[in-house]
Amino acid sequence: MDSSENKQANSKDGNPVYSTTDTSKVNLSETEWKKILPEEVYYIARQKGTEAPWTSKYEKSFETGTYYCAVCGNALFKSDTKFESGCGWPSFYEPISKGSIIYIPDNSHGMARTEVQCGRCKSHLGHVFDDGPPPTHLRYCINGVVLDFQKAKEAEKKYSGKK
Ligand SMILES: [Zn+2]
Repeated sequence: MDSSENKQANSKDGNPVYSTTDTSKVNLSETEWKKILPEEVYYIARQKGTEAPWTSKYEKSFETGTYYCAVCGNALFKSDTKFESGCGWPSFYEPISKGSIIYIPDNSHGMARTEVQCGRCKSHLGHVFDDGPPPTHLRYCINGVVLDFQKAKEAEKKYSGKK
């Protein structure tokens, strides 16, 4: 295992719920989340914060692999559904499966938007808009802070034969 690569994913350290294989729902109190998540992850995932645009290392990354929820390890998006939206946040046109995402109407800030949350831990991920490319014409605009990327080699094993 390449430990230098894992160092960046510090959200997993001391996070007992992080798992890319366990699909059971995660239900922790906000106090517990605050204890196990790095501050910036907690701010976005649990307090519905937004990272500054153009700050995510994933925004311009087009490596082949899978994007997981940085809070709980739930598989969210495949790199082949990622596209360059120019909006400043990592953008995808389709989640990995129906259950990987939850949709919540969001009328805050005087806008009618749809919030997207992780289907496993209900963390705030971002929003979905209907101005994306075909075939879905959707644009999942996601905070890179709450994403965890694994290159194809590892990720493919878990998803081969599952379609
Ligand atoms: Zn999650």
